[in-house]
Amino acid sequence: MQIKRDFADTIGNTPLIRLRGASERTGCEILGKAEFLNPGQSVKDRAALGIIRDAIGRGQLRPGGVIVEGTAGNTGIGLALVGASMGFRTVIVIPETQSQEKKDMIRIAGAELVEVPAVPYRNPNNYVRYSERLAQALDRQVPGGAIWANQFDNVANRQVHVDTTAPEIWEQTGGAVDGFVCAVGTGGTLAGVAEGLRARKPDVKIGIADPDGSALYHHYAHGELKAEGSSITEGIGQGRITRNLEGLELDFAYNIPDTEAMERLNEMLSDEGLAMGTSSGINVAGAERLARDMGRGHTIVTVLCDYGTRYSAKLYDAGFLRAKNLPVPGFLEREPMQVP
Ligand code: PMP
Repeated sequence: MQIKRDFADTIGNTPLIRLRGASERTGCEILGKAEFLNPGQSVKDRAALGIIRDAIGRGQLRPGGVIVEGTAGNTGIGLALVGASMGFRTVIVIPETQSQEKKDMIRIAGAELVEVPAVPYRNPNNYVRYSERLAQALDRQVPGGAIWANQFDNVANRQVHVDTTAPEIWEQTGGAVDGFVCAVGTGGTLAGVAEGLRARKPDVKIGIADPDGSALYHHYAHGELKAEGSSITEGIGQGRITRNLEGLELDFAYNIPDTEAMERLNEMLSDEGLAMGTSSGINVAGAERLARDMGRGHTIVTVLCDYGTRYSAKLYDAGFLRAKNLPVPGFLEREPMQVP
C-alpha cells in the first residue's frame, strides 16, 4: 500500500538534493532539503502541522474551533491547508507588504485574510500583536473557541523540526552531516534541527545565515541585538530572541547581504534548475560560507524553503531588482524567440 493516510501525512519526508554548483565551488558536499516540495510549498507546513497537532493534543483546539495567526505568509498557507484538511476555520493576519502570490494562496486555501500595515512589533497593530488580540476576541465569540498559533514563541514549532526534519537529515546523509546552517524567521527550523542533530552528533557545527536588517547576526557574533541595513527577503530576519531560539548556541554566524543571496539564487537556477525564493539564496550563501570555514570534504546541509513563483513580481522582475540596485539575471530581459 502506497496510500497516504491523510493530507497531513504528505508533509515532510522531503528529498535532500546535492547542489552541484555550490559543492563544486567549495569542495564540500552542499545539500539542500527540498522543503518547497511540501504540499503548501514551504518549510512552514511542518510548523503548521506541529502547532495544530499540539493544540489538539492539549485540548485547546476543539471541533468548530478557529485557528488565528500573524504570518509573513508561508505559515498562513500551511495553517490554512492543514486546518481545512481537519475541518478548522483559519484567519490569517499578514503585513500588507508581503507578496501578492502568498496572499492569493492563503485565500485560495480557504482562509480569511486580514491585511495590516507593516509596522514594528512595538506598535499594537503589528501583525503578530493584532493576531493575538483577534484570537482573544474570537475565542469569546466563536462556539468552538479560537487558538492563537503564535509560531514565534510556541515551541511546538521547534519541536516538529526536532522530531521530523533533523532525523530525516540524519537518515538521508547516513549520519555523515558535518554542518547545518539556515536563516531565522521564528527560529523553529534552526533551533529544532540543531537540537535534533546535536543529540545524534554532539560536534555537528551549526550556523545562522542572517540577512541585512535582522538583529541576530550581531547578537550571535558580538552579543548585541543590533540591526543594520535592510533586505528584500521575506519570512526571515528577527529583532528579538523568540522562545523558539532560547537556549540555542551557535558555532558560526554569517551576515548575508541581498547581493550575495541573489548571486547564489541565480547560480542555483543556472546550475541546478532550481528557481527558489530569497531565503533559500541566503541559506545557500550561508552554506558556502560555512563550507569555506570548515574546509574541503565536509557535508553541509541547508534548507530550500520555498519556490520562486511565490515572489515572481519581485525576485524575478527586472524592474523591481533594478530599483533595489540588485543584479538582473540575463534571462529576465531576453527577447522571446520568433519565427524570422
Ligand atoms: N524562509 C521562508 C520563505 C519563510 O517563510 C520562513 C518562515 N517565516 C523561513 C525561511 C524561516 O523559518 P523559521 O520560521 O523556522 O525560522
